[in-house]
Amino acid sequence: MSETPLIELKKVCKNFQLESGASIRVLENVDFSLFPGEIVALLGPSGSGKSTCLRIMAGLIDKTSGEVSSSGAALKGANQNVALVFQSFALFPWETVFENIALALEPLHLSPDEVKNRVKKAIDLVGLEGFEEAYPRELSGGMKQRVGIARALVMERSVLLLDEPFSALDVLTADSLRSEIVDIFQNKQTATKGVLLVTHNIHEAVYMAKRILVMGVNPGHIRGEVINDLAYPRNEASQAFNQMVDRVHSLVTETLMPDVPKSDTAAGTIAPATKERSVPVLPNVSVSEVIGLLETIHADGGTGDIFKLAQQIGKDFGHTLFLVKAAEILELVDTPKQKVILTELGRHLVEGDINVQKRMLHELYGELTLVTQVAQLLRQSPTLRLPVDLVTEKIAEWLPNENPNDLLSSLITWGRFAEYFGYNDDTKELYLDVGQETS
Ligand code: ADP
Ligand code: MG
Repeated sequence: MSETPLIELKKVCKNFQLESGASIRVLENVDFSLFPGEIVALLGPSGSGKSTCLRIMAGLIDKTSGEVSSSGAALKGANQNVALVFQSFALFPWETVFENIALALEPLHLSPDEVKNRVKKAIDLVGLEGFEEAYPRELSGGMKQRVGIARALVMERSVLLLDEPFSALDVLTADSLRSEIVDIFQNKQTATKGVLLVTHNIHEAVYMAKRILVMGVNPGHIRGEVINDLAYPRNEASQAFNQMVDRVHSLVTETLMPDVPKSDTAAGTIAPATKERSVPVLPNVSVSEVIGLLETIHADGGTGDIFKLAQQIGKDFGHTLFLVKAAEILELVDTPKQKVILTELGRHLVEGDINVQKRMLHELYGELTLVTQVAQLLRQSPTLRLPVDLVTEKIAEWLPNENPNDLLSSLITWGRFAEYFGYNDDTKELYLDVGQETS
């Protein structure tokens, strides 16, 4: 395509400065372009930097390095070509639907007639006719989100940036809003030339997007792209649709679990760049969720399918993968391809009572590199305890690409369960649990 992209990122990196002074990298070498006529999805687990990408495109925050352009020109400050829709946003409770939408036009100083025309058009597009004079408290979640979308459309900008716009809605409402957005865009009833959808929902991405970019974590980067040429409007029941979902699933699986044996090119996915991590780090998930996952697999005879498990435990796919990953790091499951199989250890853990579980996790957890490093650090203190700030600083040094606060909170919850570490919130100290202290 030789067309000028509506938005383009080249080798964009982003670091955030933490309060401790440490700096974490959340985006690495992100290349991205959105062309006229496209709906593109950025798909990735939570924490992969999707919202950060979107905020950089909108000019709400600046990149650390790389290039960002909007319709061919280097972006400086707020991007005047984009309109944003978030998952939840503030409606003014004392203003009507009409006024809440009209607010977006205030900076343009249009005549009252123009404002009225534009707002009416936006209201028609999103199906809010009849609700012009309603107040936000009278609206359902879906209707409120329509106001949010209308507020973005009324600006008549060329790019619509959607950040998980449907994730707070019930399933049916989300379904109908998705198809309405696709319709509005397909029918070219608006000034919108391109749409970027940020989501962690694979179905949503396959339903809406023409291209799906899958993001990986630590630091956030684009792992691969799937072109989705299914004709609009898409039929979720069709075989082609489900094949596309499977294809994206595989890419996401490989992205989150690069140690899963590669399914070669079988599924037609793009081979992810190998990015080895020397220290396996337990994802920040709860102990009870991991045990719940193991119980589900056990109840199914010891073998689970990664896609089905997500449905069975009622979590989204990305989160389920993190749970599986945690179990795998602890050697409680094996993950050949998309299967999740309980290991002998895993079966033992599920069948054991809480004390067996604690004892086993004490052993398994204690073998993780980060855990031994932190334990060693604590042993250097005569009291076996240290201020958490100091521990966080050390963690940031050891693992510059991870969020040290997340790692610390995971150390506290897992450490407590496994009776490895203790934490005193009054003194803000982490200590080594040496057994005697817990009877
Ligand atoms: P996503 O939208 O994919 O869930 P985000 O872009 O919100 O991810 O965040 C990516 C990473 O950057 C996360 O680890 C998050 O904690 C971190 N992060 C986001 N904003 C800030 C900030 N202002 N300061 C420090 N870290 C941040
Ligand atoms: Mg986000």
